[in-house]
Amino acid sequence: MNYKVHNLRAGGRPVPNGYSSWIDYWEKSTGLKATSCHNTVCNVSSRNANMDGAHVQRDTPNDNRWWIVPLCHRCNTQFGAHFTVSGPLVNVLDPSIILW
Ligand SMILES: [Zn+2]
Repeated sequence: MNYKVHNLRAGGRPVPNGYSSWIDYWEKSTGLKATSCHNTVCNVSSRNANMDGAHVQRDTPNDNRWWIVPLCHRCNTQFGAHFTVSGPLVNVLDPSIILW
């Protein structure tokens, strides 16, 4: 499933206990490996760069929660940009809440 999102400046938001990074959080929650940037118009794969666990919000008025999705560093530093990503998205506060 694809989701329209915008990217947020995550600041120093700490990684929850039990995880080494936000990408580790995403991988453990989904059981997947972050092998590529989830921006649907970006071709960067993990052969070229490590993925960031990006903090995003959906472009929908009824969901102001924060989600984690793998993005390449270039996409993850385009703060405020709107783009479409492929799921899954993992909720920042509760890793059992996943949008596939
Ligand atoms: Zn990218």
